[in-house]
Amino acid sequence: MGKIKVLPDHLCNQIAAGEVVERPAAVVKELVENSVDAGARRIRVFLQKGGRSLVRVVDDGEGMSPEDALLALERHATSKIATAEDLHAIRSMGFRGEALPSIAAVSRLEMITREKEAVSGTRIVVEGGTIRSVEDVGCPPGTSITVRDLFYNVPARRKFLRTVETETAHISDMFLRLALAQPELYWQLVHHERTVHDFPQAASLHDRVYHVFGAELAKALIPVDFRTDHAAVRGLIGPPELQRANARSLFLFVNKRPVKDTVLTHAVLTAYDTLLPKGAYPFVVLFVDVPPRLVDVNVHPTKREVRFRDPPLVLDVVRRAMAQGLESALKASWSRPFYVSVETARARDIRGGVREGQAESEGFRPLAVPSAAGAVARPEPISILWPNRLPEPTADGTPCHQEAPGEPTAPHAFSSLKILGQLACAYIVLEAPDGLILIDQHAAHERITSERLVHGSGSSGSQRLAPPVVLDLPPLEADALSHWIPELRTLGFEVEPFGGGSFVIHAMPAVLKHADPARLIRRLAERTPAEERTPRVERLEQLAYTAACHASVRAGQRLTEEEMRQLLKDLDAIRLSATCPHGRPLWWKITLDQIQRFFQRT
Ligand code: ADP
Ligand code: MG
Repeated sequence: MGKIKVLPDHLCNQIAAGEVVERPAAVVKELVENSVDAGARRIRVFLQKGGRSLVRVVDDGEGMSPEDALLALERHATSKIATAEDLHAIRSMGFRGEALPSIAAVSRLEMITREKEAVSGTRIVVEGGTIRSVEDVGCPPGTSITVRDLFYNVPARRKFLRTVETETAHISDMFLRLALAQPELYWQLVHHERTVHDFPQAASLHDRVYHVFGAELAKALIPVDFRTDHAAVRGLIGPPELQRANARSLFLFVNKRPVKDTVLTHAVLTAYDTLLPKGAYPFVVLFVDVPPRLVDVNVHPTKREVRFRDPPLVLDVVRRAMAQGLESALKASWSRPFYVSVETARARDIRGGVREGQAESEGFRPLAVPSAAGAVARPEPISILWPNRLPEPTADGTPCHQEAPGEPTAPHAFSSLKILGQLACAYIVLEAPDGLILIDQHAAHERITSERLVHGSGSSGSQRLAPPVVLDLPPLEADALSHWIPELRTLGFEVEPFGGGSFVIHAMPAVLKHADPARLIRRLAERTPAEERTPRVERLEQLAYTAACHASVRAGQRLTEEEMRQLLKDLDAIRLSATCPHGRPLWWKITLDQIQRFFQRT
């Protein structure tokens, strides 16, 4: 007796399920891909418990005859390929004929399907791979497949399922990727009774992106469209300032198939090259279309990896396409208001804080310089951050500002220095005796405003509003604001509670005359905790900083020499040793010494 046995089908299916069905998201993917292949126009996905207890995919595609419906549940049964040649010309999403039997082997599956011309449909119930019933039913044309109790008969796999939230997040991510690939289809995802995604049929990728990610992001994206004889690359890519902290913002597709491909990812990231700091990822939706014979999609059981027959060819096309898109966008950015990127960088700083080692990633990258030996060597990175102190976000994320401490030769009379000019509508460039000083004009303005609020204005610098402005706040904000009314009065605000979350604003500090009173007070209420324990001085400063941040109008403005001079004078007049424990630097000096080291002159 030999030891080797051919395994029975149901066991093969369970083994295949181990690869194909990692988690509920994989069930959604396989079923939805079948719907796409069936020519559906509308695809709806229903979930319960993150897909653990129920995944249902309903489509209006071509449906199946009763015979086909039964065959579809057999292992290696597919309508999509028939010969070995077909394997090299795959245009459908599926082709392995594995998904349905695999899913059916590890769940309780119900299939209801009807071809358009047929008078009735077919309902098949399968439990753990065993067909329990087959019957005729009345149903609309198309197919509905319900998968209940995933892994009910494979406890080891069930144990590996994560929380409902995690599984739902995986499904949602997968759903988004599939929906991006097929803008012309209607897509809906419903978890219990809640609609998670609802994407109307769209005329273009741009319109789909608009629905998925919102108007603001869609507007910022750069279109890419590039073709050669062998490949086409199209999509929408983010400008560098739209950076993200992880690779989930890369939506990459090969022949409309969502892929996680390291080679492709690398090509995309190299295109951004020095435009992004280390560890940052761009936002990219990119479709690479190549003739099916040039790509092997039969590499991974879930088809999320592909193998290009000629990787350098594809990568070259991707790089060129991306470079073209980015270049045109960068040129266009001369006319884009610069504060967009300045603000983005600021938001990132506030969220993540800046660490010393990140100096290089803050947009300052030493160039690669050929060394004497001919090898490319990087010069020693220069410490470009203020040495002693690192800015930190405040507890509530409100930026507050202070001077860069620690520079021993800190000039306390900025106005005595020569103004070299203004950089990027954001920084004033000064010549110091021992180097170069950059002043963040927006931060400086905020600082001046807040100092004036705390130490200058008071009620004398207050401006009455005629007529007064009425503001309604939700309960928590109203409560917070009512605690701060005395401090607000010290700063020059006159705010009167009116009951039921309503407030009347009678007066505002004169230095904030440009701000919208209702928006400013609302912002203050949102940002200030109803905390009584904070010392009053700190509360005052915190309020002043928040108000100043909100009211500063100087970001992204071209300043005249006169205005720069005035800003420097104002800066000289304020206390540079403020006690604010948080905050970002106001100015930054690059010493001549550092400059010389960079140019290897020492
Ligand atoms: P594959 O997609 O690789 O062919 P599957 O196991 O996913 O394998 O599906 C088997 C077959 O069942 C498909 O080839 C298709 O003919 C049929 N089928 C599956 N889902 C649907 C659907 N939603 N509408 C119409 N036919 C379907
Ligand atoms: Mg399939």
